[in-house]
Amino acid sequence: MSKKINCKVGNLIIGGSENIVIQSMCNTDTLDVEASVAQCKDLYKAGCQMARLTTQGLKQVEALAQIKAQLLSDGIDMPLVADVHFNADVALAAAAGIADKVRINPGNFSKDHNVAMEKFSNLIAVCKQYCTALRIGLNHGSLGERITSVWGDTPQGMCSAVMEWLRVCIEQDFYNIVLSLKASNTKVMVDAYKLLQNTMETELGILFPLHLGVTEAGNGDSGRMKSAVGIGSLLKLGIGDTIRISLTENPVNEISVAKMLVSCKNISKIEAATREEFIVQAGYLYGSALLDDSLSDDFNLEGSIAGKPVESEMADEIKNILLQAARRRFTKAEYIACPGCGRTLYNIEAVLAEVRKATEHFTGVKIAVMGCIVNGPGEMADADYGYVGQGANLITLYKGKIAVEINIPQEEAVIHLVKLIKDNKIF
Ligand code: SF4
Repeated sequence: MSKKINCKVGNLIIGGSENIVIQSMCNTDTLDVEASVAQCKDLYKAGCQMARLTTQGLKQVEALAQIKAQLLSDGIDMPLVADVHFNADVALAAAAGIADKVRINPGNFSKDHNVAMEKFSNLIAVCKQYCTALRIGLNHGSLGERITSVWGDTPQGMCSAVMEWLRVCIEQDFYNIVLSLKASNTKVMVDAYKLLQNTMETELGILFPLHLGVTEAGNGDSGRMKSAVGIGSLLKLGIGDTIRISLTENPVNEISVAKMLVSCKNISKIEAATREEFIVQAGYLYGSALLDDSLSDDFNLEGSIAGKPVESEMADEIKNILLQAARRRFTKAEYIACPGCGRTLYNIEAVLAEVRKATEHFTGVKIAVMGCIVNGPGEMADADYGYVGQGANLITLYKGKIAVEINIPQEEAVIHLVKLIKDNKIF
């Protein structure tokens, strides 16, 4: 029997025998302290237990300290997480008594693995000194060449990479850690977490807490369904300690969906109060069986909303969304859209709606809409085409991993995207 350990993040305990912790991420500019405090308060009031903020540089670390202080002086003691990419110095500064937890992918600290290791070791030392927690978060699509050259961009590669960093933590006697292996592809995501849970059990005999999420899930019904399928499949197996529903919407919307998903535990039929809850319960109930092919596509999706059986037209519509989320049958284009954060360079919610309207009929084509050029191209994983914010009012379009139209004005970008898809695929 493996030992389940927990992670202390400010006043919260994640993992062990604790309840699932619900978290979200602000999409404000972290330097806009007033807006960030206001959004943290909205999230907190909705039931969010921990909020993450983009922390690109040292100025954002300072802003994070101000946000924390403001929240505390207003009586809100919600742990804050610094989301750091690439810059180990920023992670060090945030970990030194400012953030309650720092989220990093240590492999991004340097292309030289030994240098990255050294920087990661320094970060562990600071975390130990200040009792700061770490999330080691590796996303599908952002693995370094050292890993992909051996494993490819696969669940095995994701698991191997995170285990490397975990061993360093254990060698340094640092256990205040949460792990995540997110992907926008629900099958990849579920397989990666299962593999990691199994590897921790067999190799370490210790289960570190897991943060579950389907990344770049998009918005609306399909965004909710992807999270319900991916996260729900794992929660059903007792895997997962904290969850984030990632939506390209106001992050406050993520909280009610997370609560619905957590309360799906032990349900055996769909009895929802709303259409949104019907979607979440359907994903939870049927997602894992569809992902592992133990359920055929022609099952009956039945259930009730507010005590009334759902009509067959709505059931069929939701079933199509479910089958697509579980990657069994594609009836529309597939969208991979980041939730947006302080790095986002345009109104991503409005742009996603515009892109969706113009491209939904390209059945089976995977289209990414990403807020920034820093992380967008790496994180859009297996998208066929990408719409990525390059700079103020400027968009770069991708075909696969290659930038094919750089710095085009935003007002022309959707037309260019449609032409790019049509020119490269026959419909
Ligand atoms: S890809 Fe989106 S969520 Fe990720 S850092 Fe860029 S803007 Fe933020």
